Amino acid sequence: MPDASLIRRLLEEALGPGGVIANPPALEAYARDETPGVSAVPDAVVLPRGAAEVAAVLRLATAHHFPVIPRGAGTGVVAGALAFGGGVVLSLERLNRILEIDVDNMMAVVEPAVITGHLQREAAALGLFYPPDPQSVDSCSIGGNVATGAGGPRAVKYGVTRDYVTGCELVVPTGEVLTLGGKIVKYATGYHLLDLVIGSEGTLGVVTQVTVKLLALPAHRASLLVPFAGLEEAAAAVAEIVRRRLLPSTLEFMDAGAIDASRRFLEREMPFPEAGAHLVIEVDGQTGEAVAAAYEAIGELCLARGAADVLVADGRAEQEALWKARRVVGEAVKAQHRDVAKQDVVVPRMAIPELVARLRPIGEAAGAPVICFGHAGDGNVHVNILRAGLDDEGWRRAKAVVFPALIREVYRLGGVLSGEHGIGWLKKGALAEALPAKQLELMRGIKRVFDPAGILNPGKIFDSLASEKQVS
Ligand SMILES: Cc1cc2nc3c(=O)[nH]c(=O)nc-3n(C[C@H](O)[C@H](O)[C@H](O)COP(=O)(O)OP(=O)(O)OC[C@H]3O[C@@H](n4cnc5c(N)ncnc54)[C@H](O)[C@@H]3O)c2cc1C
Repeated sequence: MPDASLIRRLLEEALGPGGVIANPPALEAYARDETPGVSAVPDAVVLPRGAAEVAAVLRLATAHHFPVIPRGAGTGVVAGALAFGGGVVLSLERLNRILEIDVDNMMAVVEPAVITGHLQREAAALGLFYPPDPQSVDSCSIGGNVATGAGGPRAVKYGVTRDYVTGCELVVPTGEVLTLGGKIVKYATGYHLLDLVIGSEGTLGVVTQVTVKLLALPAHRASLLVPFAGLEEAAAAVAEIVRRRLLPSTLEFMDAGAIDASRRFLEREMPFPEAGAHLVIEVDGQTGEAVAAAYEAIGELCLARGAADVLVADGRAEQEALWKARRVVGEAVKAQHRDVAKQDVVVPRMAIPELVARLRPIGEAAGAPVICFGHAGDGNVHVNILRAGLDDEGWRRAKAVVFPALIREVYRLGGVLSGEHGIGWLKKGALAEALPAKQLELMRGIKRVFDPAGILNPGKIFDSLASEKQVS
């Protein structure tokens, strides 16, 4: 960073001494997110209290050419909030209030560091529903969800964060504060800049306020656990559920490796541990009768398609126990394998079995078995490539074989590289290979318009840091 002590003094003048962290032990807390195996200690961290202070930091950065890296709750898994190459992490942690739940308009206005689960609970207390539900719902922030375009199991019925954000306050790198959208459900007023900002991973601006729409809270829910001999059989049932328009609120799958990882991690017996695949399904609705009719129809259909059994949980505790295994699976795989390389690709939902069937032998041949789980209802597959017994060189070679094969298959099947986690720093090499040059050129052009000095979250999505350019 150019003249670090001068920059620190200017930041302290703008934010007050309590607004800047510069001592090395405290900086460590901002050196990592949830991406395994990567870290980068920033030169400083700033803790602004509102859009005006964010604007002051960005104006300084543009004038003095130092990088600023926005950070929400740090649960990202593609190293999007890390300061590779140094710079100032801008943590939104002080902006953590729900400003308004507008019951009449069915909208909420929140600051970016509000934890997603907290908003859901506050809305639910008023009979309202904020559906986006990343599995990290109790630790990630709304601002981070907007920046990554986060999704979750409920996408199959309710969509993702993008479908609920109707407005935001955005500070652009040159320091202007923009109000995009608002408490509105329609928009046909020129380019939809808000839509560009959603999923831009902190590269176009810093989100300092978010408006989201809310739905009526479904009064009843029930969950099903359905074991199948294999993923193909489970996928045939999923196809039939979709074809019959039964529309569950979640429709998740775990393969045999994922079932085993969860069982061992939870250290308790799970129903149907020997199954080749589980479907975990939730249905919701406004009446108990409608929910019961939906789960009975889905259960019957699954049995007709070869399910070994159907376990129904309609009490809250039973549902929680049933979902626990699905919720911990990512953590379980990570805990039980010394190295796991992950991708969250998305394909048309009917293509999941073909993707998994093609990938498995490629992983086996490279000595790196593959575990898959994810959102059968919306085609989003979490692919976990395991290091198993490989030495460093073997692991490097296995990844060099399996990743390109995975990406090739995904695009051949009509899918894309990431369904919900984003590209960040981790996957930018893969994006450069996957996207046509014209699309990358358009993205770079948009970035230049928002951020002419290139100070906001450099080195992410498609951008190379100076040090990386020297290496390549
Ligand atoms: C156990 C676990 C389960 C997960 N499950 C899911 C899942 O089901 N679905 C899913 O989508 N993700 C999931 N994730 C990933 C992660 O939780 C999401 O990407 C989440 O949206 C990140 O939010 P955050 O507040 O932690 O953001 P951070 O990690 O702090 O930042 C993520 C990105 O957003 C940018 N950013 C953050 N806040 C702002 C802001 N206010 N303005 C501008 N840019 C900003 C950062 O620069 C960075 O690029 C999971 C992670 C874990 C650890």
